[in-house]
Amino acid sequence: MFTLPELKYKYNELEPHIDAATMEIHHTKHHQAYITKLNEAIDKHPELADKTIEELLRDVDTTPEDIQAAVKNHGGGHHNHSLFWKVIGPKVTEPSEVFHAKISSQFESYEKFKSEFTENALTRFGSGWSWLVKTSVGDLKLYSLPNQDSPISIGDTPLLGLDVWEHAYYLRYQNRRADYINAFWNIVNWEEVEKNYLN
Ligand code: MN
Repeated sequence: MFTLPELKYKYNELEPHIDAATMEIHHTKHHQAYITKLNEAIDKHPELADKTIEELLRDVDTTPEDIQAAVKNHGGGHHNHSLFWKVIGPKVTEPSEVFHAKISSQFESYEKFKSEFTENALTRFGSGWSWLVKTSVGDLKLYSLPNQDSPISIGDTPLLGLDVWEHAYYLRYQNRRADYINAFWNIVNWEEVEKNYLN
């Protein structure tokens, strides 16, 4: 049984970048719904009950057909949001010197990294996520994926993700996705991103 992770900060602590109402609905309604539906799917296949969410997403291609879509969508939704709550926060941090250098060398410059991540978030048609991932050989890579697709299912480790589903920003930003993305850079918890890189 998967359960809703607690946040390490209050819903209003990301103001003004993400408003408290959006945070509360996003966490207690949207994220919870992914978990509920994932648990319903796993209930049908008790042999999968001991698998971690990472294992389920890694092996999604060989998941029993009747729950494959549920694991992909709701399992992805559960993992993506669990990561999202951790890589944002009220504590303003910057990448460490070492990680900053890694990013700069991988993407030519830190600014280029930021603009490419932003562009991917902006141009993702419909719903999805913009990702910074670590590949299986340890390189950093940027891309966006549709829906709740997880980088884990294509062999990458997600480090930093930005949810660009309308439910993530519509209350405060309406159609202004660009403003939401710009605000996001003020609440990135780089300590957690680097932890994801080192793990
Ligand atoms: Mn979401």
